[in-house]
Amino acid sequence: MSSAIRIILVEPSHPGNIGAVARAMKTMGLSNLYLVNPVLFPHTNASARAAGADDILARAQVCTSLDQALTGCRFTVGTSARARRLSVPVAEPRECAARVQAESAYGEVAVLFGRERSGLTNAETDRCHLLVSIPTVADFASLNLGAAVQVLAYELALARRDDESTPPQQGVMQTAPAEDMRRFYEHLERVLVDLDFLDPERPKQLMRRLRRLFNRARPDDVELNILRGILTATERARANR
Ligand code: SAH
Repeated sequence: MSSAIRIILVEPSHPGNIGAVARAMKTMGLSNLYLVNPVLFPHTNASARAAGADDILARAQVCTSLDQALTGCRFTVGTSARARRLSVPVAEPRECAARVQAESAYGEVAVLFGRERSGLTNAETDRCHLLVSIPTVADFASLNLGAAVQVLAYELALARRDDESTPPQQGVMQTAPAEDMRRFYEHLERVLVDLDFLDPERPKQLMRRLRRLFNRARPDDVELNILRGILTATERARANR
């Protein structure tokens, strides 16, 4: 069982899919399911499709925001049927699973799945360090939500099995958790607006680009404290002028 990996469904509309996801997870040894604003949950269709994975549904955490669901996670993967403009790096499931397995030795990892109709928004994929796309035929790329979770969960199970012999390295990569990164971005945005560097009327892609930059760099807790300190000093210097 992997307790360091959480599967997050963002606004799933069909309770049957939530059940199918629970079943897919249970077969592959995953147990932490998070639901962000599910349209209908709990629901008899979810239990019916779970087919014995009711324990996963019973333990599922229902959240009112993605921020809440990501609290405590240090690495976030987003799933998408299509690659995007200004995107985060995109991997195939096998490569992604190896990465998730490696990251899970250092902290909790989230794998995000999008809405049945519209997938994940740009703001949501901006929260991710890595995107994963299941290769399909070119003109029919969208899998059912439960099927997409099954493919990823299978690859994660294989990666875990392959990795069991190698003990994790200690003392590396204490990357800051999602909630601290969120507070940092809020602070950074406030200071950039205050400095007239960022025009809230015409923000362009500035914050998205900065998120991408820091997601590549993956600051640890100490580095993030330094960055927050610089922002606070900037605010103070401006107030004293
Ligand atoms: N029209 C939506 C498809 C949503 S399918 C879109 O283009 O994004 C619902 C969810 O299933 C997606 O948000 C994603 O999490 C997952 N999914 C479906 N097909 C996938 C694929 N080929 N690769 C990775 N994830 C996929």
